[in-house]
Amino acid sequence: LLEAHRIEKAFGRTYALRGVSLAIERGETVAITGPSGSGKSTLLHCLSGIMRPETGEVHYAGRRVDGLDEAARTRLRREEFGIVFQFDRLVPELTAVENVALPLLFSGRGRAEATTVARDRLEEVAALDVADARPAELSGGQLQRVAVARALVTGPKVIFADEPTGALDSVAGERVLSLLVAAARTNGATVVIVTHDNQVAAHADREIVLRDGVLAGEVVV
Ligand code: ATP
Ligand code: MG
Repeated sequence: LLEAHRIEKAFGRTYALRGVSLAIERGETVAITGPSGSGKSTLLHCLSGIMRPETGEVHYAGRRVDGLDEAARTRLRREEFGIVFQFDRLVPELTAVENVALPLLFSGRGRAEATTVARDRLEEVAALDVADARPAELSGGQLQRVAVARALVTGPKVIFADEPTGALDSVAGERVLSLLVAAARTNGATVVIVTHDNQVAAHADREIVLRDGVLAGEVVV
C-alpha cells in the first residue's frame, strides 16, 4: 500500500534519512523505533506527504506521492490519512470538540453532524470532559487524546502516529493504543506508529528500526 524507495532527506548538512526503502501492506500495523534523532519523525513526514524527500520515491496506492504538488498532497492527506503529530498541532483558538470536528468540516459535512461525531470520538478516548476547553487549558495527555480523536474522526485508510503515547501514563497510553489498533482491525486501516516504547512496538505486526537515518533492521513481533 505504502512504499518508500531509497529516500533521502537532509536539513542543511545533516542527513536525517539516507537511502531508506520499505513497503507496508494494507492493514498492517508497523512500529518505527530507534534512538532520538535517528530520523523517525522525518520518515513519517515523508511517507505521509508532509515533507518531500530530496531523492527517492514514495508511493501510496499506486500513486507517486512525492511527485505531487503541495495542494495535491494536502488533499491526499485529508482524504486518506489520519495523522497524530509528535508535537501537538491543535488550533489554539478552537475548543477540543471543534478541533476534532475540523477534518469533517473540511470533507464537507455539516456542522451539527460533525460536532456529534466529534463528541463520540472524544468519548472513545476518554476526553469528553474537556470537549469545550481550548488547547492551552489541556494537559499533555489530554492534548494527545484529543489529537488521536481528531486523527481517527474521518475513518482514515492510513493512520500515522508520532509518539502517540509519549505524554500518557501507562493506562491512558494503553487506551490510546488500543484505539489505534482497533481502528486498524475494524476499518482495515493501516497504522504506522513511531515510538520509543517497547510495549507499543509489541502491539505491532512488525517493527522497523532506524539508526542514523538508515534502516538498522526489521523485527517481526
Ligand atoms: P526524536 O525521537 O527525538 O523525535 P527522531 O528520530 O524523530 O527523533 P527526526 O526528528 O526525524 O528524529 O530528526 C532526524 C535528524 O534531522 C536530527 O538530526 C534532527 O536534528 C534533524 N532535523 C529534523 N527536523 C529538522 C528541521 N526541521 N530542521 C533541521 N534539522 C532537522
Ligand atoms: Mg521525532
